[in-house]
Amino acid sequence: MARVHNFNAGPAAIPEPVLEKAKSELMEMAGTGMSIMEMSHRSKPFEDIIARAEAGIRRLLGVPADYAVLFLQGGASLQFAMLPMNLRRPGRSADYIDTGSWASKAIGEAKILGDVNVAWSGKKDSYSRVPNFDELSLKPDAEFVHLCSNETINGIQWPAFPKTETPLFADMSSDILSRTIDVRQFGLIYAGAQKNIGPSGMAVIIMQKELAERAPAEVPVILRYSTHIKDNSLYNTPNTWGVYMTLLTCEWLESLGGVAAIQKINEQKAAALYQTIDSSDFWRSPVRKEHRSGMNVVWRLPSEALEDAFVSKANKEGLVGLKGHRSVGGIRASIYNVITLQSVNALVAFMKEFEKKNG
Ligand SMILES: *Cc1c(COP(=O)(O)O)cnc(C)c1O
Repeated sequence: MARVHNFNAGPAAIPEPVLEKAKSELMEMAGTGMSIMEMSHRSKPFEDIIARAEAGIRRLLGVPADYAVLFLQGGASLQFAMLPMNLRRPGRSADYIDTGSWASKAIGEAKILGDVNVAWSGKKDSYSRVPNFDELSLKPDAEFVHLCSNETINGIQWPAFPKTETPLFADMSSDILSRTIDVRQFGLIYAGAQKNIGPSGMAVIIMQKELAERAPAEVPVILRYSTHIKDNSLYNTPNTWGVYMTLLTCEWLESLGGVAAIQKINEQKAAALYQTIDSSDFWRSPVRKEHRSGMNVVWRLPSEALEDAFVSKANKEGLVGLKGHRSVGGIRASIYNVITLQSVNALVAFMKEFEKKNG
């Protein structure tokens, strides 16, 4: 069977050149006589791979030298818990901005062990927008401000980030590497790998090293950022396959011209879809125009029956992964870095055809 147009939200499509390279090295990698998965994480070849993966992330995002880049297991969800454990000192509070499903999950974890100030919530607007900066009730004595840069399920994205007095932390799982950012604006950035970086089961963390010193004495060694910074993500056996695939993805992205170059293509992809959605009353976008996500495009049809028909007909034509998240329904096309403009154009052509028959 041929490969499909894969609009899955995560795990998501991986670049074909990356899959080809991984396949070619699967039996035997560059003179080692074994595959990446059979290799000691303490070996010279693997140390080289993890160092090059880190260097790739650093170059692509312009990560300053006083920031660490970590590859940790447990995905973004472990970071929901690990972050407040380490970075909110006893008796202190933290500001969280509630923009949707993922931000809410981060808040839920942070509330278990300490105080949280929800500085704004979009729940009353069904998470259809992000806040204006002047709507945020931030506390000057908070330990940090936490936000989710792109809500994968609700399809909204911050077009720009607030300048905060306390360190700004961001869950960038679904838009990291899709647009240029100023890393210096953030104390910490984390991202589950399976959207824009590589396979699942791993998170990339970019953090100001000195923040790691905040961790209270009760935090177990394995859950401390300082442990992993000290050992360059090799305190215990990392997800070696995930790190290797991250390296290949970074090489692929650099070969295309890096983040600024892919951002231009991403903007064309999103514009093509939103223009189609706005072109007729048959389609309806539930989110505010200025806050529409460039990575996860969500929309509705006139009825759930038509939405079901749309998804199943699309499937048959090799356009897969278009069903909206079960918590919100509707349609969702995830158009991460790997999704080509050709795939998006194929989806647009399908939409026009579907509307003609059912509109
Ligand atoms: C997918 C996702 C997560 C969860 O990632 P896991 O690796 O499954 O823990 C968290 N935040 C956002 C924004 C996501 O898109």
